[in-house]
Amino acid sequence: MPEPIAYVNGEFRPESEASISILDHAVLYGDGVFDTVFGWKGRIFRLDEHIERTFQSMAAIALDPPFSRSELKALVLEAARRNGFENAYIKWIVTRGVNGRPLMDPQGCVANLIIIVQPYLERVSAERAARGVALKTVAWRRPSGQVLAPQVKSLNYLNLVMAKMEAKAAGADEALLLTLDGHLCEATGCNIFLVKDRRLLTPDRDILFGITRAAVIELAPSLGFTVEEGAFGLYDAYTADEIFVCSTAGGLLPVCRIDGRTVGGGAPGPAFACLSAAYGALINAPEAGPAYLTVETAA
Ligand code: PMP
Repeated sequence: MPEPIAYVNGEFRPESEASISILDHAVLYGDGVFDTVFGWKGRIFRLDEHIERTFQSMAAIALDPPFSRSELKALVLEAARRNGFENAYIKWIVTRGVNGRPLMDPQGCVANLIIIVQPYLERVSAERAARGVALKTVAWRRPSGQVLAPQVKSLNYLNLVMAKMEAKAAGADEALLLTLDGHLCEATGCNIFLVKDRRLLTPDRDILFGITRAAVIELAPSLGFTVEEGAFGLYDAYTADEIFVCSTAGGLLPVCRIDGRTVGGGAPGPAFACLSAAYGALINAPEAGPAYLTVETAA
């Protein structure tokens, strides 16, 4: 496979040659924002929504973008086009930049834009995705909005990295994190849904409002599900008929175990099958998002 091409500050370069300064505030302080999209059959699913989220995140942390929404969109599409992967993992990062001083004062920094494109990466093996993943509630809690607004897709992911390590060390695939007051919050980089009869329950406190979560909420009524967004506890999870987590990078993933308990029948259930098929149809539709490969190239 040829080396992927990355974009850094006005230049497309082979990934191994693309770099930023070690004095960038992103390196020093995790000061910046990012977003991840995927290219599916040459189209980027809901690219505008992801770009909007980046602009909201930048506004929240007072990071002045040296590009407009349409410029960012054009660069992401160009990066995807240059790499030519039919199914691609695409991440952009906006760092606070450099002002030459390794101090916490960002005055004078000019933001950097990085775009990474790789062939689509499976979050878990296809076999695991078909069987369902095991969740473990970890000791780490998600920060509340008073610590750092959870809607900001910032570079501060240490909390989730620690959570994932804790879950893996305990033999689970993914961590389940609670809010500071003990309600269900998120899995590692994913939103969570519980299924009870025809009801879908999903937390709405201290979460990142995922674009996949929004797609599930949008699809639910036409498939005969009602959606309840609110505060739910571990009891609700332990007694759910089905559980699934969702994210851009992983799509919809069924959960077959939680904290050593079997979920439902211990295998992906009918609600998951139905919602995941509908999500599959959505990402394959021509209106899923803008194309970066022509139909002939993608075929
Ligand atoms: N929560 C967090 C903390 C995330 O980082 C993500 C994205 N990886 C999600 C939820 C899911 O969001 P989306 O569906 O937009 O990918």
